[in-house]
Formats: sequence, C-alpha cells, structure tokens
Amino acid sequence: MSERVIGIDLGTTNSCVATVEGGVPKVIANKGGYKTTPSMVAISEAGRRLVGHIAKRQAITNANNTVYAAKRLIGRKWTHPAVQRARQVLPYKLVEGETGDVRIELHDKTYSIPELSAIVLSEMKKVAEDYFGGPVEKAVVTIPAYFNDGQRQATKDAGRIAGLDVIRIINEPTAAALAYGFKKNIRKRVAVFDLGGGTFDISVLDIQDGVFEVLATAGDTYLGGEDFDQRIVEWLVFGFAKEHKLDLRTDVMALQRLRDAAEQAKVQLSSTTTTDINLPFIMSASGKQDALHLQRTLTREKLEELTADLVERSVEICDRMLKEARLDKADIEEVVLVGGQTRMPRVQQMVKAFFGLDPAKSVHPDEVVALGAAVQAAALVNAQQSGSQPDLLLLDVTPLNLGIMIAGGYFNTLIPANTTVPTSKSHTFTTVRDNQTAVKIVVLQGESDVSKQNEMLGEFILTDLPAMPRGTMEIEVTFDISPEGIVSVFAKDKATGREQSIQVTATSRMSEDELQHVLEANEEFAVAEKNTEVFQTLRNDVERHLREVDSLVPKVREFLSASDFGEDALKKVETQKERARRAIQMQDIPALKEVREKLERANTMLKGVAERVAGT
Ligand code: ADP
Ligand code: MG
Repeated sequence: MSERVIGIDLGTTNSCVATVEGGVPKVIANKGGYKTTPSMVAISEAGRRLVGHIAKRQAITNANNTVYAAKRLIGRKWTHPAVQRARQVLPYKLVEGETGDVRIELHDKTYSIPELSAIVLSEMKKVAEDYFGGPVEKAVVTIPAYFNDGQRQATKDAGRIAGLDVIRIINEPTAAALAYGFKKNIRKRVAVFDLGGGTFDISVLDIQDGVFEVLATAGDTYLGGEDFDQRIVEWLVFGFAKEHKLDLRTDVMALQRLRDAAEQAKVQLSSTTTTDINLPFIMSASGKQDALHLQRTLTREKLEELTADLVERSVEICDRMLKEARLDKADIEEVVLVGGQTRMPRVQQMVKAFFGLDPAKSVHPDEVVALGAAVQAAALVNAQQSGSQPDLLLLDVTPLNLGIMIAGGYFNTLIPANTTVPTSKSHTFTTVRDNQTAVKIVVLQGESDVSKQNEMLGEFILTDLPAMPRGTMEIEVTFDISPEGIVSVFAKDKATGREQSIQVTATSRMSEDELQHVLEANEEFAVAEKNTEVFQTLRNDVERHLREVDSLVPKVREFLSASDFGEDALKKVETQKERARRAIQMQDIPALKEVREKLERANTMLKGVAERVAGT
C-alpha cells in the first residue's frame, strides 16, 4: 500500500485538506460534512481550545478570544505597518513578542502565530486521520506566492509544531494550476487569479506535458474578502451613527455581529441583487430605555460601489505584473479563478474584461488549491519510493528581489524577483576602506533601492580579514533559494578561503532596536560590489568630468579675479568635486549618478564662461 500523504491549503479564512486515491485527487470532508474548515482558533471561557466551525460559531460571544485571519500576521514583524493597521480592527489582542514578532493574547496566555496556525494544521491532519482511520504525517502545505522568506519559514515552523512532516511548501496559484492541468495533457499559458479572504495572488504559468513553469507572479498580502466585508461594516456603522449618534465599533459583540452579517450579505449578493440586513438588539444605549435595532437593505449595486476600488486594485496588480514580466495579455489562453471572493459577479466581470476570456469552468475555487497540494504530495512520495524523478515538475519563481546592503545603505539585488527557483548566484564584493578587517553581510528581500525599506532576513559578520588596500580584498557571497523559496547565504573571503553561512530563520528574528542599529551604524563594516560594469562606467564618466573641471577652473578663475562675480558658483563646483571623490571611494552608485549630472552641468557652465573669456 502506498503511503498516506495529504495536501493542505492553509487559508487565511478557510482551510482544506485533500489526498490522492487511485490516482484521483479528492477533498476530504470534515466530520460535519464540510469540505472546508474555518481557519479559526478560540479559547473558551472555561479554557477549552476550539478550532474550525466550533470556533466560528462562538465568535460573536467570545470575540476577544477568537482568532481569525492569523495568516495575515504570520512571519511578520511587530513594526510592520500592516500589523499596526491590523491592531486597529482586530477584536483580539496583539502584543509584541520578545524578538519583535507578533503574538496574540488569549485570556492570560500569549501565543505565537505559528503556534496558532499549527492548531489549524493539526485539525486538518485530524480530519484526514479520521478519514483514513490511521495516522498521517507527510504533507504538502500551500502558501501565497507573495510570501517572503520569513513568512515561508514561519509556515514551516507551524507544520513542525503540528507534528507534520512538511515535505514541501508550494505556492497556492501553482497548486491551483497543478490541479487544473493534472493529467490533461495540455500545452497552455494559464493565469491563476486567486482572491481569497485575506490575500490576493496572480500568477501566469506555462503548462506543458507535466511541467508547470511559473512565468510571473505578483499579489497583495492585504487584499481579500475581509476588506469587502469591512466596507459593508463601515457603511452600516456610519449609517447607524448618523441615525443614533452611537458608534457600534465601541461594542466588541456588536462589531462581531456586524462582521458576520456583512459577510453573509456579501455572499448573498453574489446570487441575488438585493438583501436585507437585520440585527435586532444590536446595542442598548445606556440611559435609553429601548434597545436599538439595525435594519438596512443592501443592493448589489451599492456593494459594487463600496468595493469598486478593491476590485480595481486586483486588476491593476495583474496589469503591472504582465508589464514587468513583459508578457503579452493576448498569449494567455485560460484564466483559472480561485478563492471564495471570485464568486462575486463584479470580480468575474472585471477579470473577463481584463483578460478578454471567460474564466475556466472546471475548477472549484475553494478546493482547487488543496487538490493541487495533494497531487504534488503524491508525486513526491511516489518518486521517492520508486527512486525515480517525479512525473510532475514545478518550476516556481521567487516573488521578491533578494540582495544585500552595500555602502551608503543601498540595496544591491543579487537575485531579482521572478527568477526560477531553485537558484544560486554568486557575486564578489569588496571592502571600502584601506585595511578594513571586517565586513557585515546584511541580507534583505524587497522592492526598494534603499535597504531600510526592505525586509531584513538576517546578517552576519566576516571578521579577521587580512589588512589590504580598499577594493582589493575579495568576498564572494552566494545566495541559494530552495524550490520552496527558502533562502540560504554563504560568504567566503577569497584570501583565506574561510566561509560563513546563515540559513535565515524566522525564529531568530532580531528586535527592532538591533535592526535599526545594524542598518544605521554600518560604515565600519560596509561592503561594496566589486568592479561592476555600472560602477566602472560611472567612475570613468565622473573622472573625465573632474579632469575637465580641473582644466576649466583656472581659466575661469583668471577672468573672475577682476570681479567677484561667480565666486559662489566656483565654490559649488568644489563641493561637487569633493562629493565625487567620496562617491568613488564608497562605490556609491546612486550618489555617483547624481554627481555625474551635477558635474556635467557645471562643465557646461564653465565652458560657457571660458568661451566668453576667449572671445573678449
Ligand atoms: P482563503 O483562501 O483566504 O482562506 P477562501 O478562498 O476560502 O479564502 O475565500 C474566503 C472569502 O470568500 C471570504 O471573504 C468569503 O466571504 C468569500 N466568499 C465565499 N463565498 C462567496 C460568495 N458566494 N460571494 C462572495 N464572496 C464569497
Ligand atoms: Mg486561498
């Protein structure tokens, strides 16, 4: 008998577990007969731990101790703007963990996010075990394509805590494409549009005879169905405040009832054009005798108006991704819709209008991700048992630029976003000062040119380097990204051959103070990229301009000595010269670009004056 393996879609809102039986992937229903389980965990008044539907059912009366959408917080730092935003709207209490991570306080105990996700994963494991009548350990777990290294690591941690052997984590859209293209023998370019409860993902893949190659991926980890609910909640709160001069958000229980009603109304409006929201006794105004009721009618049209920008944002992300990856919209042959929120007619219309295609009908938006995970799990285990190559090949891409901080606090990309993984790349860096004996390698992921604005994964210091003139010491830094998107970094100083490495781990997160310190006080350990073409070109340009300045200035000065006119301009030129020298020394590419432009302008000005001198 083949080994039992499962695929788990650990969703922000709902989770789903599937397996492959007789070569056919199928979703396993829970004991209540539901194919998906709410990703919710609660601690009851009596201290009991509740998961899934049971947790959801008591959420209204126990909102402070019921956790939903924890996935939005996984692997995040406390100071991340999105975490701070979440604090404002979540009914449960977030606190800062010792390593600057996010924790949740339920009754008087605090839980890490991987711990809470592990409770959901355990529940899914149990659903499968009930079905099989025996233990299951091996699983493939899915994550949004847009997750960074920290979020991926934290999800793996959650699997470990749940007692699962997570043989692979794969991206949700890739899993969806896998389920869609499984055994179909197709050659197609497919877009997977996934709008779930908390996150949005878009990916474009080429499917060809069992090879699934991701060409591009993008997304927003803070765009999903909950945002749609929130718009309805705000609309209700605002209307109620106008009528009664009372803010429903001040009452936790009222707010939870509003959220529930908002979601129900939204779901309703996917199949009807108008719905009534009735919440009797929503608030009893103190000092007033009568309890207050909330009663409103919401139309599909109004809902579309309230959420128009959210839908547009998802389409804009698609547009941007296609442009950045230089993909032609016309080459896309199929659009697969994933995620409950894609059931909203307006979303379907916008997707259809954008791609000019009717979305694929054969897939179930709630199940397709778990099915794909199960397909991948089975393929991996079969290959392992038979000692052969898996009959499925997933070629995924890394969603974010990966690089290190270089002199001046700039971010130097080593592996750009959308590179196929696994991948490995080496670059040679060098010291920026004479006799510099230590360098610090700060590893970051993100989209900004400025290190501070990116997510820091980790850092290490190479010490005891031989004292050498600046720019001659060579340090080779190698980045590895595993098929799961997990990052490792090795640095080697070429003079001694000594190596150091880090596997960037989610749990070894630094505190914010440490982080600031590392990112700011770095002159001493600064590294620069060794002799890059860009730098050489810039340096040549700047040095040519400097020579020109030096030849022009004496002529101009001679003329100027008769008057004071232009003395200021010459002082400015001196400052630019100084900046240029420093920028060359620091190999500071952005500063070099700026100073090149300034010197060019100074030269034009000086030439003009010199010509006039010659002409007089
Ligand atoms: P996740 O992948 O984040 O767990 P799901 O794919 O389960 O999320 O989608 C959940 C979201 O889909 C919720 O916000 C839910 O309200 C929404 N949803 C479910 N069914 C419908 C529907 N018929 N119309 C509109 N939205 C829906
Ligand atoms: Mg999902």
